[in-house]
Amino acid sequence: MRITKVLLHLCLIIILTVLTQVGGLIWLLALLLSKKYQVKKRFIFPILYFVFNLIIIPSSAKLLGREQLPIFDEQLKPRNLVYPILFRNYVNPELKDLLMKASKETNIKITYLDANFPFFDGFPLLPHLSHNDGKKIDLSFMYLDEYGIATNKKPSISGYGVFSNSENNKTSKSCIDQGYWQYDYPKYLTFGTINKLSLNKNSTKQLIQKLLKSSKTEKLFIEPHLKQSLGLNNEMKIRFHGCRAVRHDDHIHLQIK
Ligand SMILES: [Zn+2]
Repeated sequence: MRITKVLLHLCLIIILTVLTQVGGLIWLLALLLSKKYQVKKRFIFPILYFVFNLIIIPSSAKLLGREQLPIFDEQLKPRNLVYPILFRNYVNPELKDLLMKASKETNIKITYLDANFPFFDGFPLLPHLSHNDGKKIDLSFMYLDEYGIATNKKPSISGYGVFSNSENNKTSKSCIDQGYWQYDYPKYLTFGTINKLSLNKNSTKQLIQKLLKSSKTEKLFIEPHLKQSLGLNNEMKIRFHGCRAVRHDDHIHLQIK
């Protein structure tokens, strides 16, 4: 019985660590405190979690070189609150600056998706293996509503998995045909499609060009067919990520030097 309990705690710690980096440690702390003070874990864990989420981790991450992205700023905000709640919205100060400036100067409201965890280079934010050093972030495209009017709505709840496909999209098909089953996998990660929207090519292009203009930007991934249909053919920093990654016609991946 005792071993089962220990194993259950261990599983929970591993799951929380994979999803949030620091959640496993918070659970461990809740276990210790609940033993010491005879308080139920179900009370102590949520309180501790939110104290860490709102106060302790943002300030300690800053000391170690990463900053939390804004949560309620209209110009730069997460697709939903799950990203900050799961500690998935930390970046290097240079990347934060770049995003804030790009949003201000283009007057485009940037919606971010997965960024990085608060601490340690080399600790990946799964399923994105490369989001491990504060220098990477995924951003939503801009969209038009059903009447063709620019909107800040996004097509899926998670921000991933609704592809802006086009007639020229040979890459995705060829990667899938070659057996790279994971290429199409984000379609299972929408957590619900809520808005019927089409790609706002003008604003998306404007945002990408602004991000590329910065000398800090190292590269940016979007699907080759989008690069072509947005008229971004001469942009050297836009790369194709290869078939081993997932397709990038549902979001922009940006990374700085
Ligand atoms: Zn990415």
